[in-house]
Parts: sequence; C-alpha cells; structure tokens
Amino acid sequence: MYKIAIDGPSGSGKSTLAKNLSKKLGFVYVDTGALYRTVALHMLREGIDISNTASVVDQLAFVKVSFRHDADGSQHVYLNGEDVNAFIRTPEVSMAASAVSAIKEVRAFLLDTQRDIANTGNVVMDGRDIGTVIFPDAQVKLFLTAGNKERAMRRYEELRDKGQNVTLESVERDMLLRDSNDSGRKEAPAIPAEDAYFLDNSELEPEETLARALEIISGKIDI
Ligand code: C5P
Repeated sequence: MYKIAIDGPSGSGKSTLAKNLSKKLGFVYVDTGALYRTVALHMLREGIDISNTASVVDQLAFVKVSFRHDADGSQHVYLNGEDVNAFIRTPEVSMAASAVSAIKEVRAFLLDTQRDIANTGNVVMDGRDIGTVIFPDAQVKLFLTAGNKERAMRRYEELRDKGQNVTLESVERDMLLRDSNDSGRKEAPAIPAEDAYFLDNSELEPEETLARALEIISGKIDI
C-alpha cells in the first residue's frame, strides 16, 4: 500500500495538492490538521484553558475524534459523533489547534487514528509531521512551501470565501505565529523529513503544482 506524505507550513497549498492528487490517483485523502482542529474545538467549547496542559490532557477522556469520506473523496470529521466540519476553520480554532498540537499527549491521542487509515488502502496525507513521525516509511514525501505573502493571501481569500470577517494583516500575523509555534515546538516539530522533496509553489497554479508532484511521485512509485 502506498503512502504519500505532504508536509509544509499553513497556506502552502498542501490540502489543494493532496485533494488533487487523491482524485488523480484514486487514493484516500486525509487532512490531519482537521483532527487537531477538532480537539481544539472541543477545548474551546468546554471553556478549557488551553495554555494549561494538565487541563487539556484531562479533557481528552471526553473526546472522540473520527472521520469518514464521502464518495467524492471529501473528508468529514466528527467530534463525539457530531460533524464539525463547519466549525473548525475559524482563526480562533486555528490558533487553538496550534497550541494543543504542541502537547505530547494530544499527539499520541491522534496517532492511531492517523495510522489506522493507511491500513485500509493507498493514502495521501497532509500535515506537519507525516513524513517525520506518522509515516517515516512513506514511499513519497513532499515538503510544500510558498512565500509568506502568497500563503497569507491564499488563507485570506479562503476565509473571506467562507464569509469570515478577517483582514489580510491579521491572517498573516496569525499564520506567522502558528508557523513559529509549529516549527519551534519540542514534539514533532513541523520540519521537513531528510528524504523529503521540496516543492515551492509560490509562482505555480494548482494544476502546475499537481504536475510537478506527479513527476516526483512517478519517479518513486508505480502510478
Ligand atoms: O493544517 P492545518 O492548518 O489545518 O493545521 C492546524 C494546526 O494543527 C497546525 O497549525 C498545527 O499546529 C497542527 N497540526 C500538527 N500536525 C499535523 C497537522 C496539523 O501539529 N500533522
């Protein structure tokens, strides 16, 4: 079974590429950020102080995260049985996800959920530690990057499209803060695997990024 790992900072186009690859290759797409976002949503709803590690860890006993895929490949994530897709993309949840994801117990809590899916078939998984921690044995590892301005603009447009009232400045500020939290943390820092291929898509359209990724992938596995 094939595993394609796509890591990189926020707004680097990971989910767009992963979705396009999954459609093209018929692989299951797994957005692992959604799992951290779901844990964060629970903590926010329960009024947990997310800077208090012990409180977050205690709450994990009351969290069940699962996901399923529609026929079109889109992923739905569930918090204790409730489809929370509509609630996990806010700036508040993004920042809380970055905070809770630095906690070792939170990462361990989500580990099996991520690994189990790869036993069911070929997967393309995006996140921060897929090539380094979740699937160090992935046949293909891509590390997607793009310039700060491009990434901030993409996130901004995505949030505006969802009807959220954000400014480009606030989106860029949050993004850079999240980047530095995620790459500077002790547990599973968001850094490229040694054997990852770097792909900078600042100047590329999604179709061009897909074509470049397919070139890399076809050199590694039989697709
Ligand atoms: O990818 P996305 O922006 O949805 O991820 C939200 C947050 O979840 C990230 O900022 C990061 O802190 C965390 N995350 C992680 N490891 C992953 C995926 C996401 O730590 N594999």
